[in-house]
Amino acid sequence: MKVLRLKKGKEESLDRFHPWVFSGALADCIPDGIEEGDIVGVEASDGRFIGVGHYQIGSIAVRILDFSDRTIDESFFAERLGEAFRLRQALGLQRPDNNAFRLVHGEGDFLPGLVVDIYGPTAVVQAHSPGMHYARRTIAAELIKIPGLGVENVYYKSETTLPFKARLDPRNDYIIGGYVGNEALENGLKFNIDWLRGQKTGFFVDQRDNRRLLQHYSCGRKVLNMFCYTGGFSVYAMRGGAELVHSVDSSEKAVTLTDANIALNFPGDGRHKSFAEDAFKFLDRMESGTYDLVVLDPPAFAKHRSALRNALRGYQKLNFKAMEKMAPGSILFTFSCSQAVSREQFRLAVFSAAAQSGRKIRILHQLTQPADHPVNIYHPEGEYLKGLVLYVE
Ligand code: SAH
Repeated sequence: MKVLRLKKGKEESLDRFHPWVFSGALADCIPDGIEEGDIVGVEASDGRFIGVGHYQIGSIAVRILDFSDRTIDESFFAERLGEAFRLRQALGLQRPDNNAFRLVHGEGDFLPGLVVDIYGPTAVVQAHSPGMHYARRTIAAELIKIPGLGVENVYYKSETTLPFKARLDPRNDYIIGGYVGNEALENGLKFNIDWLRGQKTGFFVDQRDNRRLLQHYSCGRKVLNMFCYTGGFSVYAMRGGAELVHSVDSSEKAVTLTDANIALNFPGDGRHKSFAEDAFKFLDRMESGTYDLVVLDPPAFAKHRSALRNALRGYQKLNFKAMEKMAPGSILFTFSCSQAVSREQFRLAVFSAAAQSGRKIRILHQLTQPADHPVNIYHPEGEYLKGLVLYVE
């Protein structure tokens, strides 16, 4: 195995099991013969071995797979994927009424650069690093071997998640099996998952627990689900007994997906309506008091730290526009999925919106990502989803 040496003192975060080696921490230039995606060893300046990981060009040079000198082969992936599934079993996520869940959440499952979502018999695999891209066939082969998981088809979807390099050629396609239908179950509700054309792996499994909480508050309410995508929150609100549910997304495709998922669960139910429209425009033309339960689940406003200021302003503006017009006694579910925005920063943006609206507002719940998106305690960056449930008087 080729080994990269760190500058003096740069082993500290790794000794605390943080799995990233930044390029600036490396003592020397990358020697000839080391290619992107290669498995490399990492050692401290005094030659002490630290771990083994995937090498990549960019600010994160190595993503550590294991803090020992072990071989990264089929048995490594079999072991890690097996551990990931055992955790999901402990969480009770594989049930007759629930077969959609995240099996692998990158660093949170000690597999940096890898995401695997399960939709019944199909696994959707996403590589975020060249190393995981090269390992995709091994990963797929090991996934179908996991006893009890029941995966028969593996769809690889990394065209948009890998750094652009022509040489990688990350074509979206089935690695094993093929299309056998796309209906999945979440807490007894049916969803069509469009992994072929949809965003991410086709569905935002990370809002499962928060959708269920919304259902709890839905009875008799007039619900606005802003940034609805596949209509997850809308379907739960319908089941919770909402008086009406309006879903909004700027994408026509998303609105079509939402309509289909509503029809799948509540055929012919006249309580639901959807709108293909920009969120800010919709909120501007919305009459005060129309809704008393609102969900704001926008896309990540800050994809990088450089966009932080604008992102915070965006969250403030969006939340203000909603708060200003919500009926008295309303409930607001508001989220940020930007990893670059901290929990405190998001709360501050929502606080500023509240102050600007002048309304009496209390925090009822502080929400996060569900347990199948675990956060490796040594890698706090893995915590990305933040939400607040507010009572607006
Ligand atoms: N709440 C969803 C996930 C939302 S993803 C769920 O639970 O599954 C973010 C969505 O916001 C995408 O579908 C995207 O099309 C939509 N979107 C992005 N910008 C928008 C805008 N300006 N107005 C309305 N929708 C927008």
